[in-house]
Amino acid sequence: MDSVFAREMQYFPILLVEDNALMRLALETDLRNMGCLVVSAGNGKQAMEMMASSHFPIIITDMFMPEMDGLELCRAIRKGKFESYVYLIMITSQDTKEDMIRGLESGADEYLIKPVDRSELTVRLKTAVRILSLESSLRKSYEEIKALSVKDSLTKVFNRGYLDEYLVHEVKRAYRFERSLAIIMFDIDNFKLVNDTFGHAAGDQVLMDCAWLMSISIRQEIDWIARYGGEEFTVVLPETPVPGARIAAERLRIKLESHFFVAGGMELKVTASFGVAGFTPSGSKEDLDMAASLLAKADQCLYRAKKEGRNKVVSARL
Ligand code: GH3
Ligand code: MG
Ligand code: MG
Ligand code: MG
Repeated sequence: MDSVFAREMQYFPILLVEDNALMRLALETDLRNMGCLVVSAGNGKQAMEMMASSHFPIIITDMFMPEMDGLELCRAIRKGKFESYVYLIMITSQDTKEDMIRGLESGADEYLIKPVDRSELTVRLKTAVRILSLESSLRKSYEEIKALSVKDSLTKVFNRGYLDEYLVHEVKRAYRFERSLAIIMFDIDNFKLVNDTFGHAAGDQVLMDCAWLMSISIRQEIDWIARYGGEEFTVVLPETPVPGARIAAERLRIKLESHFFVAGGMELKVTASFGVAGFTPSGSKEDLDMAASLLAKADQCLYRAKKEGRNKVVSARL
């Protein structure tokens, strides 16, 4: 047994689809001896049912079978949505060029003629592993890039683009389930002074620590925080009426006020002003501008908190 091959094949279980019990057993035994993980089905329909409950990145299928043949199976797989690419190898006794073209046309990646030669099957499976591994690493990079693209690079909380997109979703959900939704907008007080006194790098450190402090102080997995811009952040609180959001904002205000920041080897304190806005749907028609209205209202409240002396919470309902 090729041990490197056998080890790689552990990541790619095979679904073998063959209606002839003898052939199925022979191939299954061969594949197992090569070190593959194999599960089998008697026709395309059974195979599709199995794909619905478990994922098989490699399917080796016969062409002619009752109920649903190999060509239909390949077409169904190509139409479906699966957690990875599905590598399809068609095995058949039909050895005309037309049949081969029909097989590949239906979506198969490979076409093998019976009786299948073991070493040929091995090299075909090695190709499958190369393609599937490449796809999996591309998928991983894509997921990583996607995760990075919604985060603010300095503070690691969600960025403005994410806030703009997902606040609209939260509003829709609030309307659909008739639940309250509130947001808290806060802006660090006299932050220019922090930069001017301690330097821009210290200012960056304070921003990072502040974002971290606020994100560990909200309801985990429910509330979320985004950097709205500069030293201004927005917290989104699903299922929360204004009085509750006001209490949450007051808690954040105290948390910040009592925190000692350390930047550039020096200890410093900061405060922030908070604006809270929220709404509760009451069977009324959905306001398509609600997300923008919430942000505008929270911003007005924040402005009032600044005017009234800073380090304050001001709230309003929509
Ligand atoms: P106020 O209490 O009215 O909010 O006063 P403020 O000084 O915080 O407000 P102002 O808008 O005058 O200044 C905001 C400052 O925040 C100015 C800007 O340089 C600073 N700032 C914005 N983004 C960053 C950043 O990413 N890093 C650092 N270090 N400073 C930033
Ligand atoms: Mg058959
Ligand atoms: Mg400020
Ligand atoms: Mg500001």
